[in-house]
Amino acid sequence: MSYRIAVAGGGPAGLTFARVLHRHGHPVTVLERDPSPDARPPGGTLDLHEGLGQRALEKAGLLAEFRTVSRPEGQAMRILEPDGTVLRDWQPHPDERANPEIDRGRLRDLLLGPLDVRWGQGVTQVVPGMRDGVRVRLADGREETFDLVIGADGAWSRTRAAVSPVTPHYTGVTFVETSLDDIDTRHPDLARLVGDGAMAVYGVNRALVAQRNSGGHVKVYAQFRAPLDWHTGLDLADGEAVRAHLLTLFDGWADPVLDFVRRGSAFVHRPLYVLPVSHTWTHVPGVTLLGDAAHLMPPLGAGANLAMLEGAELAESLATGSGDPEEAVRAHEERMWARAGRWAELTTAGLERLVSPDPARAVALFDEVQPS
Ligand SMILES: Cc1cc2nc3c(=O)[nH]c(=O)nc-3n(C[C@H](O)[C@H](O)[C@H](O)COP(=O)(O)OP(=O)(O)OC[C@H]3O[C@@H](n4cnc5c(N)ncnc54)[C@H](O)[C@@H]3O)c2cc1C
Repeated sequence: MSYRIAVAGGGPAGLTFARVLHRHGHPVTVLERDPSPDARPPGGTLDLHEGLGQRALEKAGLLAEFRTVSRPEGQAMRILEPDGTVLRDWQPHPDERANPEIDRGRLRDLLLGPLDVRWGQGVTQVVPGMRDGVRVRLADGREETFDLVIGADGAWSRTRAAVSPVTPHYTGVTFVETSLDDIDTRHPDLARLVGDGAMAVYGVNRALVAQRNSGGHVKVYAQFRAPLDWHTGLDLADGEAVRAHLLTLFDGWADPVLDFVRRGSAFVHRPLYVLPVSHTWTHVPGVTLLGDAAHLMPPLGAGANLAMLEGAELAESLATGSGDPEEAVRAHEERMWARAGRWAELTTAGLERLVSPDPARAVALFDEVQPS
């Protein structure tokens, strides 16, 4: 009997893991809760770093294809004061390949390729230590058994409970996301402001970030410090009420900045949750985690990158190693904890500076990380 591997979750972590195993000719079962690839909007754009996400794509044999569909010009960044004054306007060199952007939907399609994902197969529980392997319970009541189960099922992972009792906690920062379509034709003034990449405005305990995706789609994130119950008395399903609330929250900011909120549609509430900075666990034979399931951290451009590289590295060592797969999993966990721990510290400190009482700290952070 060959080694039976299942991965829960078809996000960046799970698909990269499966794609690299597939490249090495090893079968893998991908169990994804969503009923189909297009069951929900795929989300915004991701920047894939040269040493992380792009390295993972290289291991999957997909780097050349990534270069044809990603947007290096999307690395452009403009920072404004709340009164509209431009503080920084960074344009990437045409050959700059450090962090090109890619729409999540495009990345998913790139990774999916020939993979045979089992859509609509949500995992409800993973039970290790059974005589014949690791039991996976599915939402439809069926059970299946594998030798190795990888939890790549995101922030609210159902696999995590098999290895760790820890659950995510609220950071104190909430994003409310809205978006504009066809921006170049319908909102040329805002298109100029957001440019080819992103525009960020930092105020006291608030920020507003607009980011271009492909096809003239722009995602806007109103970010603010607030208790988790900030919306008591506000119906989050009532877009006009949420818009009015945001306009009060950002009162006094320049008109062109507020126009991103005034003209945006479909407001989505995203309180930011994280796992503890150094989340580790005692190794459990037959189960491990990847990506957000293992190390959910603030969204400062690292999560998907780490998720993909971990997936690629674990798949590669399982497929090419001659030793005990359990040893490959243990080595993966040590490597992942060390690397993700460093990034969790950086992104936690970063979030403190980006949505902070002192907006100058946000601009200084940009100066520290931006290539000159
Ligand atoms: C606003 C925002 C912007 C971001 N920008 C960036 C960026 O620019 N760069 C970057 O690197 N990171 C970014 N991130 C972080 C990034 O989105 C995550 O770290 C990344 O998606 C993690 O990938 P994952 O595969 O671990 O989890 P996910 O992307 O959450 O994928 C998990 C998958 O598992 C499925 N699933 C969930 N539960 C189950 C279940 N029980 N059974 C089966 N399937 C299940 C889900 O449907 C999903 O397909 C951003 C995050 C946010 C919120």
